[in-house]
Amino acid sequence: MAKKLAKKAVPKVAPKPKAKAENARKTSRKASEPRAPKPGSRYVYLFGRKTDGNGSMKPLLGGKGANLAEMCRIGLPVPPGFTISTEVCTYYYANKRTYPQALRGQMEAGIASIEQQTGKTFGDLKNPLLVSVRSGARDSMPGMMDTILNLGLNDQTVEALSAKTGNPRFAWDCYRRFVQMYGDVVLGVQKRPDEDHEPFEMVIEKLKHDRHHQDVEDTKLSVDDLKELVVRFKALIKERAGKQFPSSPWDQLMGAVGAVFGSWMNDRAIVYRRKYNIPTEWGTAVNVQAMVYGNTGDESGSGVAFTRNPANGVKEFYGEFLINAQGEDVVAGVRTPEPVAELKKQMPKAYAELERIRQTLEKHFKDVQDFEFTIEDGVVYMLQTRNGKRTAMAALKFSMDMYKEKLIDWKTAVMRNPADQLEQLLAPVFDAAEVNKAKVIATGLPAGPGAASGQIYLNADRAVVAADKGEKVLLVRVETSPEDLRGMIAAEGILTARGGVSSHAALVARQMGKVCVCGAAAVEVDYNARTVRADGRTFKEGDWMSIDGTAGKVYAGQVKTAPSEIVAGLINGDEAAKKTEKFKHFQQLMKWCSDASRMSVRTNADTPEQTENAVAFGAVGIGLTRTEHMFFEGDRIDAMREMILAETEQARKAALAKLLPYQREDFAGIFRALKGYPATIRFLDPPLHEFLPHTEEQQKELARKIGVPAARIHTRVSQLHEFNPMLGFRGCRLGIGYPEISAMQARAVFEAAAQVQKEGIKVRPEIMIPLVGFKKELDLQIEVVHQAARDVQAEQKVKLNYMVGTMIEIPRGALTADEIAESAEFFSFGTNDLTQTGLGMSRDDSGSFLPQYQELEIVKKNPFATIDATGVGQLVDIAVKKGRAARPNLKLGICGEHGGDPASIHFFEKVGLDYVSCSPYRVPVARLAAAQAALQTKGGD
Ligand code: ADP
Ligand code: MG
Ligand code: MG
Repeated sequence: MAKKLAKKAVPKVAPKPKAKAENARKTSRKASEPRAPKPGSRYVYLFGRKTDGNGSMKPLLGGKGANLAEMCRIGLPVPPGFTISTEVCTYYYANKRTYPQALRGQMEAGIASIEQQTGKTFGDLKNPLLVSVRSGARDSMPGMMDTILNLGLNDQTVEALSAKTGNPRFAWDCYRRFVQMYGDVVLGVQKRPDEDHEPFEMVIEKLKHDRHHQDVEDTKLSVDDLKELVVRFKALIKERAGKQFPSSPWDQLMGAVGAVFGSWMNDRAIVYRRKYNIPTEWGTAVNVQAMVYGNTGDESGSGVAFTRNPANGVKEFYGEFLINAQGEDVVAGVRTPEPVAELKKQMPKAYAELERIRQTLEKHFKDVQDFEFTIEDGVVYMLQTRNGKRTAMAALKFSMDMYKEKLIDWKTAVMRNPADQLEQLLAPVFDAAEVNKAKVIATGLPAGPGAASGQIYLNADRAVVAADKGEKVLLVRVETSPEDLRGMIAAEGILTARGGVSSHAALVARQMGKVCVCGAAAVEVDYNARTVRADGRTFKEGDWMSIDGTAGKVYAGQVKTAPSEIVAGLINGDEAAKKTEKFKHFQQLMKWCSDASRMSVRTNADTPEQTENAVAFGAVGIGLTRTEHMFFEGDRIDAMREMILAETEQARKAALAKLLPYQREDFAGIFRALKGYPATIRFLDPPLHEFLPHTEEQQKELARKIGVPAARIHTRVSQLHEFNPMLGFRGCRLGIGYPEISAMQARAVFEAAAQVQKEGIKVRPEIMIPLVGFKKELDLQIEVVHQAARDVQAEQKVKLNYMVGTMIEIPRGALTADEIAESAEFFSFGTNDLTQTGLGMSRDDSGSFLPQYQELEIVKKNPFATIDATGVGQLVDIAVKKGRAARPNLKLGICGEHGGDPASIHFFEKVGLDYVSCSPYRVPVARLAAAQAALQTKGGD
């Protein structure tokens, strides 16, 4: 048996069928440098002494591979290796999971190059080369295959490594790690759904108890212990995977490469791609790299660091390391690492080198870097660098500081703030008074800023179920792993007992903008009992806890939250808040946004308060006021119902007369709050039955109130019933059926305008007729509006400045926009209805099929959240072109849900709209997105 294995261990060059040319290349390979393959057939890119790639080649080499190449180019110490390109991944899935023929030969050349540079040989029995196999997509992607370290070891090479280094403990530690990782990642020996611990960890635990009768640290395991572990690991693999552990290094390598490509389509990766809209076509690259060893002793170690603090943005060397450890230990949260500053005492030379690298990285990449390093016997090696994920708070501070340091210009500073994260800055913090009263039960590392209160759940599935029921959930785990992703998405906040600031939990929280406290060691999580013990108390699943991810504190119970400094300063006029750095930075960013934008940002607001908030956030008008919302308040609904139930025009007018003063006051309040900015006011839009009482009880009550028989109400409600209300008697169809409704609304607008204008405030009403598909519809309504305007102006002896336009929200309206623009002074795209009617998909019913559509990638994104640019967007584009052709100064805006969505805003910039409109708290996001869209569209100027 052993002999057989020994033979297999010699690096084997698998002959390829019908490949004479390849065989020829193989024989000459040893003698010469690896040759450049034919253009278009290069699959392997070297880095090291000779480097084929560079940092701009992320689509081809993945983020990790491209930056390894870039670091080699700027002279940083990177162990040599090669990258298998993403094209191979594409090929792999296009060809029934097989590889291009030339790949194997190029990989052999790659290994040969590493051998030359290191003086070690793959599978050698004297001085074996070991490699790591690392996945690397364009963007870093949790959920992809975990890295495999120490590949190339087997029962023979481990002895060689031991003899060569004179360090058997190290050699066997590498071997047991390798068998464990390979078994887990490539052979799929993983935690089963009913298990709470990794099977390999359980074997380690058992061995520790068998041999030491207690939970000793991994570093305390003896050579014999490690040898025994390897035996037990292999047995576990045989039992669970039904396979022998492969001993040939080339078999190991090909298996690992296959596992990387295979992992591109695993559940976790798919979930992640969906959340972040990463296209499947991108594929992943594979990096094969010579090992450097952080586990040779106390002069070695491994760490992760940021060039600045990614949680709060402070300019400080931030990170952590473990002495005598290999990379994954730091991230896995098995041992809690020490802060990087400690290295200064323990290994001053290595620390100085890292400081130098930190400076070099920022100067070169001109952005905050997140990098991974290993120290082998005092020598620092770089294993990865990328732009550091950051919280919105850190992004803001980085951008302002780096601008002041002249590393970047102001436009770059604007681009550095992710628009879809900006809302984090507006997120609440704990109420200062409440939090003083609350009991701190544990402290941990502040890994994701903000305040979160929730009911605790200890497992991702149960967290998801609870969140689906509408509970606020706090996910509490010993540590998290990619399987917990769904639970993390569902949770308000994440609390872990173990792991440092670069643990999985911290990483994901930063990226998703989740509140997170990690490494709160005083929190004892009992998965079996489903309880958490802290500070002498026991919390059951469903109990409340609160975490402060800015301070790293854990509180018992529910703690009330307070607005962020930005909200406090802008909305509440809190002077202390206005003096904070965060507030000032935010204001600077918003000013730059205004400088950079072409489009302006309005708001969708129905009340004076909403309007004031939006104006405080920088909105320059209202893009949509939904007048029907005003009919629901207080007892107005009764007058509204009376109007709907009226059987004669006279009765209807009498009811409308009751509504008029309400509407007038609402509009006046809004005009005042706008301080001269324009307001687009949409006339009554929803189907009338939405206002009516539907239960018998409610109908009786109304009958009593307005003095009509209940039976008549019942009959009228049934009369108004529609099969497809969305496509029924609604929008301008109502105003055409009952012109007196529009007349009342117009009068209310103009009377309010006259009133506020007399107070000395400029008023600019823009009356918007909804759901227009035919020019004639608009013309009929415009006449009603003009008549009301003439009347009010005569009565009040004022001159009013107003416009009448329409909402473009059904395909016919978009397609005949040139005709409609002859009458309309402005268009506002109602992209919610335009999406519903354009796709023939009801938004309210889409829940039953849309998730599957997204899963199958029939639609890449939810079209009700991000505009379907190719379909619905085309309707917008047509309407813009036709409308402007007919009326060059036609004003164009958008007031659908998409007006606050950064990706959609980029689209609206491209088609040339004048403004976007969104809900008040989205205004800063929209301003940032509009600025970024303008900067990107203008390109390099
Ligand atoms: P991830 O994408 O999860 O960060 P990496 O491929 O970066 O995975 O690998 C994780 C860790 O494994 C690295 O930070 C590093 O510490 C270690 N590692 C990877 N390759 C090597 C290598 N060639 N030598 C030593 N350690 C390595
Ligand atoms: Mg890494
Ligand atoms: Mg609509």
